[in-house]
Amino acid sequence: MICILSDCASTDSWYWGPSKNGKFSVKSVYYLALNSNIVKNRSDCASASNSLFYKQLWKLDILLKMKLFLWRCCVNACCVNQLLFTTSITHNAKCLICQLDEKSIVHALFRCSFASSCWLASPFRLDTSSFQGNDFKDWICFLFDKYRDAPDQRDCYIQWPSLLWQIWKTRNKVVFIFENPNLTATIKAFNHTVEEGRLGISRFPNPHLPDNNPSSYCLSFDFSLHVSSPTLILAFTDGVWNNKSMKGGRGVILFNGVKRFIAAKCKAGSSFPAASMEAESVRDALLLASSLGFSNLVLFSDCQALVSSLNGISSSLDWAALSIMEDILSISSSFINIEFRFILRSLNKEAHFLAT
Ligand SMILES: [Zn+2]
Repeated sequence: MICILSDCASTDSWYWGPSKNGKFSVKSVYYLALNSNIVKNRSDCASASNSLFYKQLWKLDILLKMKLFLWRCCVNACCVNQLLFTTSITHNAKCLICQLDEKSIVHALFRCSFASSCWLASPFRLDTSSFQGNDFKDWICFLFDKYRDAPDQRDCYIQWPSLLWQIWKTRNKVVFIFENPNLTATIKAFNHTVEEGRLGISRFPNPHLPDNNPSSYCLSFDFSLHVSSPTLILAFTDGVWNNKSMKGGRGVILFNGVKRFIAAKCKAGSSFPAASMEAESVRDALLLASSLGFSNLVLFSDCQALVSSLNGISSSLDWAALSIMEDILSISSSFINIEFRFILRSLNKEAHFLAT
């Protein structure tokens, strides 16, 4: 042993055990603290499930701003009225909508009369009095569980954060600019946010469309009649509905004026009857074109009643389609030029294919 030590030519030096290279670093202290008994003693089941919860939250396939919003709600970083009151920003600790004590974000987003109405009017038709959680994270776990096995789970996970986001935005308008809470406007804004969420995460190629050389995609529509410019967008829309399953689908395909494929989308699920699906496909087209930055649009639908209504001619649309039509007209005001034209079903095969 003495012999070995005496053979060693190097001198003794300090070595920081927790790091791999022996050098001290703040990072190594952080990992040391995480694994130390002090921290371990404090980390009970709750914190273990907490970290699992946040992992699940950050893994959600939704827009980053939604994740940040949910996280802020979870850590009580949203300025509910009670918090504004304690920091003297407002002089009333009560909820400005229902006049009850607004102690937490749970009230603002679930328990408040306005929030409850939004949940009931949303596609979830959720009665928020059916769950009694007092913590925002409990509510999120409740929603995670409730829609875990939903057929369109991915879309559900886009929708409920969007609804929370819009309820919060409406509530802020009440608090800061003294607007009356408007249920219809909130649900409309929610629909837009959902579309934005769907477009924001749709990075996977559409399996129904040829992904190699999309410009060669064969069209039945005669472009020679409509060729104008690459900035003019032609949008073909269609909606279908099955009266036995009460389910429908809608499809949209966009081309520019020189026959080049731009984008397409389709959606299926429970819905109101056919005219509503036709109207929803038109709304999809407007949102898709708008999100891609186009402002000159010629939109084709094979629903004569809808096209007539959109052109100011009275028709026999039902209330559900008419309510979507109002939304379409409101979105279309953001376009510089927009035309709604009727197209024969036989010439609208691509959109029909997407809808089915
Ligand atoms: Zn309230």
